[in-house]
Formats: sequence, C-alpha cells, structure tokens
Amino acid sequence: MTPKSAYDAGAGPGFTPGEVTVHEQPAELAKVTRALRGTGRKITLVPTMGSLHEGHRELIRRARRVSGGVTVVSNFVNPLQFGPDEDFERYPRSWESDVEACRQEGAELVFAPSTEALYGPDPQITVNPGPLGDQLEGASRPGHFAGVLTVVAKLFGIMRPDLALFGEKDYQQLVLLRRMAHELHLGTAVQGIPVVRESDGLALSSRNAYLASEQRGAALALSAALAAGAHAGASGADAVLEAARGVLETEPLLELDYLELRDTELGPAPAEGEARLLVAATVGGTRLIDNALVLLGSSGAPE
Ligand code: AMP
Repeated sequence: MTPKSAYDAGAGPGFTPGEVTVHEQPAELAKVTRALRGTGRKITLVPTMGSLHEGHRELIRRARRVSGGVTVVSNFVNPLQFGPDEDFERYPRSWESDVEACRQEGAELVFAPSTEALYGPDPQITVNPGPLGDQLEGASRPGHFAGVLTVVAKLFGIMRPDLALFGEKDYQQLVLLRRMAHELHLGTAVQGIPVVRESDGLALSSRNAYLASEQRGAALALSAALAAGAHAGASGADAVLEAARGVLETEPLLELDYLELRDTELGPAPAEGEARLLVAATVGGTRLIDNALVLLGSSGAPE
C-alpha cells in the first residue's frame, strides 16, 4: 500500500506523497530527506535559481524517472555566484508559477531558503574550483564558480541526494560539479541533460527574458554558429572554429566574449573524436552562453 502521508512512511511531517511541500529551513529539509531515505526512497535533486522554463521542467521530468525516487527542486538565487556588477537584483523571479511548475511536473519537495538561512550570519568557507574555475566563464566572471560550487555543496550536505541533475546548457558548471562530487567523495552522482532549445535553436535561459525582439534575433547567431561549427567537424578543429566564427561575425548586435573548442572535460581539444564547442557573447548588455558536441575528424554533425 502506498503510504498516504510522510507520517505513514515514517518520514515525519513535511512531506506528503503526490503533493508539493515547500521548505525554507535547511534543518527541516535535512530531517525530511533523512527520514525518506530511511524508508528506502532515493533523493534526486534539481538545483535551480527559479524562473522555471522548459529546460528546468525537463530536468524535473528526468528526475521523476528515477524509480522509487523523491524529486527535490531547490529554488534559490544564489548571491555568491553573481559579481558586483552583475544582475543579481534584477534576475527574474516568479515564485508562484515556479511552485505550480514543480507541482505539474511531479516534484514533491521544493527548497526555497532565504540567504540568511542558507549562509548564516558570518559565512567563511567557500569551495575552490581549481584552475578550470578561472577559464572560459570564470575568466569573465571571477568568483562565479566558487559561488556555484559552494551553494551546491551546501545543498548536497543538507539533503544528501543520491543523484543531482544539471543542464549541459551550463556545460562548464556541469563538469566542475561532477568533479567536485567525485573528488570530495560527496556520495551524490551528478548527471547532465542535453540543452533544451526553442524551435529556432535558441537555448532556453531565464536571461532570455531580458532580450528585446531585435536582440533575440541576434542571439540566434549563437546556436547557428554552434550548428555550423558542428557541421564542419569532419574537417578538423580549425574548420570548426572558422565556420562558427563566420556566423558570429555576421551579427553586429553580438559582442563575442569567447569561442573555444575543448575536449569533453574542458581540457585541450583532441585531434579526433568528441569535443565541445563553447560560446559566450553579450547582446544588448545580456550575457548569453551556449555549447554543442562536435565530432572531430569523423563524418556527420552530432547535434
Ligand atoms: P538556473 O536556474 O539557470 O541556475 O539553471 C538551473 C539548471 O537548469 C542548471 O542545471 C542549468 O544548466 C539547467 N538549464 C538551464 N537552462 C537549460 C536549458 N536550456 N536546457 C537544459 N538545462 C538547462
């Protein structure tokens, strides 16, 4: 018999099967997830900064596929990962519709702490992402990945998830988080899901809300450049970069930050086989990132 409530499941208060329960206090959620684990449930975490779109929904749907699992969505705009001149204050927030999206997709726990509750009054400790943290995104956003790793380490510590899902949209973030979980023996498996795109190729992002329609048009050059690059994969790394750059240069509203080809762990690009093409650019003050798999030296475009 399916237990009717967390009391029946031995999980204590704070969890009702088939419904969304919101927690704001780390200690309360820790207690609930510990009790659920004790009843044999697997905890799957989907960390987000809210303003949920189809990319986030896909993560929640994937999380729900874990059999015997309970899906926890965290919703927290993490100040530590924003630079002083970045968009922390104006980052889009849509609490009511976020909770509704979680309900629709079948997440049963939402964690939405205040900054005080998560960081305490005098935080001193951060996670150092190592050399990769200063490259690509990290070169333009100093301290960004220390902020990301620190907040995710907190989330892992609170709910001890068996599995945490992240989007390949933030590819460097995914690589660093997987490494952190592995190197620090955190006991959580980190998995990525492919980039979810609009039908015209634009990668979904909460920051797309900042784009006026002309800017949105310009932003399409990112995914178009990646597609052109991937298409040139059989001709090698130089051809990939040239093809992608050619597309980016046709778009005057787009200010390129970087276009780089790396291996799948973000080391130097291989001569052959799987590589990752990564791009970052600003359109009308909005910073956008995207990436795609490229098969070097073989025929056909993978994405
Ligand atoms: P955010 O709320 O932007 O911090 O993103 C939360 C999670 O959703 C991260 O793991 C992102 O990589 C993922 N995500 C954001 N946009 C997409 C997308 N278009 N496709 C797949 N995953 C995404």
